[in-house]
Amino acid sequence: RGKWKRVVRVLREVEEGCESSVGRLRQVVDAMAVEMHAGLASEGGSKLKMLLTYVHNLPNGTEKGTYYALHLGGTNFRVLRVHLHGQQSSLLEHEVERQPIPQHLMTSTSEDLFDFIASSLKEFIEKEGDGSELSLDRRELGFTFSFPVKQMSVSSGILIKWTKGFSIVDMEGIDVPGCLQEALTRKGLDMKVAALVNDTVGTLALGHYHDSDTVASVVVGTGTNACYLERVDAIIKCQGLLTTSGYMVVNMEWGNFWSSHLPRTSYDIDLDSESPNPNDQGFEKMISGMYLGDIVRRVILRMLLESDIIGPISSKLSMPFILRTPMMSAMHEDDSPDLREVARILKDILEIPEVPLKLRKVVVKVCDVVTRRAARLAAAGIVGILKKIGRDGSGGITGGRRSDMKMKRTVVAVEGGLCSSYTLFREYLHEALNEILGEDIAKHVILKVTEDGSGIGAALLAASHSSYN
Ligand code: ADP
Repeated sequence: RGKWKRVVRVLREVEEGCESSVGRLRQVVDAMAVEMHAGLASEGGSKLKMLLTYVHNLPNGTEKGTYYALHLGGTNFRVLRVHLHGQQSSLLEHEVERQPIPQHLMTSTSEDLFDFIASSLKEFIEKEGDGSELSLDRRELGFTFSFPVKQMSVSSGILIKWTKGFSIVDMEGIDVPGCLQEALTRKGLDMKVAALVNDTVGTLALGHYHDSDTVASVVVGTGTNACYLERVDAIIKCQGLLTTSGYMVVNMEWGNFWSSHLPRTSYDIDLDSESPNPNDQGFEKMISGMYLGDIVRRVILRMLLESDIIGPISSKLSMPFILRTPMMSAMHEDDSPDLREVARILKDILEIPEVPLKLRKVVVKVCDVVTRRAARLAAAGIVGILKKIGRDGSGGITGGRRSDMKMKRTVVAVEGGLCSSYTLFREYLHEALNEILGEDIAKHVILKVTEDGSGIGAALLAASHSSYN
């Protein structure tokens, strides 16, 4: 009995540590908006880098031609071809090939990584056969690169730092499209990188192509990030930017957001200090797919160690990242009465056999607590953006009374493995958005889940920035 009590105590502590009441979320909202201002005011003014993208105009449907895109995410690599017909269509004609990024390339050399990318593209093109209407020397591509980049133009930019477990030291400070262009040449491919885009920017571009009320985008996959459309005169750190639209997409790099209001536990602190990038990407480490499973693993480990409820524990449970987030979501969403899937995963992945039902239920609860916090923090981040651009419904408050100022329809494109494949994550995200904004405002805010938007959007941006236009 004493052992069980200790299990419950660890569970209660995690629940308290992850507490994310609406009150606390609103503090996170305010902190996000404040940090956005600070990051726009001066270079290095905030942990939010608020990077310029040089994308002033988002796709609107008039784009025409066949364009390619490459997407290097955190876990997956994708090659795409998109056919644009010059008029908006609800279904964009495209082909896509996905494959996992070979683990060893994440810490290899830039040549190895980019040779892999170029070879994949070459194979993809060779499969086209003779049916292609494109002359070889006029192929252009958009390159989606989901890491922080300091851009000099829409088609050039240097890597600031790696995230999500990547570490190729010879790449930091180097021009990213340049690396790709050299690899394409090595493989004998005559193609031009017309646009270098962050994955969030690609997602926003596709979202805007389909719905011009789309003002921001959020990705929650291996990592997490967001971008949005900002007025150029609000980008104080870059005076004199001239754009025809008066707007520019800003890549927030919100994975690195930090605030003392974030509900942080000892598990988060340990995960961070044992990571290759301590004190970096604090928001990301509480929200994204690379980390959620590992937080759960740490909690289970502590529970079993402190309670001694199942006797000696296998060394598997001490291995960082052994419990991946898709496994965690499979346990979380196990709806069999005896939690068979939970038992199977605990046995097969963590080598903990014969876990009693009562303990399986606790494991599900841990998954719930960790995912609910993640989704609610992502929702707070989204409302922070809406607040910054005056779309959170608070702009109309005069003398403490909400005026009847009409709230504009506002669409946020969301993408990434957690949004598309983790149902409970998505539900908690919606729920928190409603709670923070209140139903009257929330009904004007639409989260639209897109798929492959980061890649298709890059092709759209390549089209609108084509040198053959
Ligand atoms: P990337 O981040 O590599 O661009 P995705 O956006 O597709 O790719 O996200 C992949 C990540 O999403 C995986 O690393 C994993 O953490 C998470 N993920 C994928 N499928 C699921 C799932 N069914 N449940 C929970 N998380 C998932």
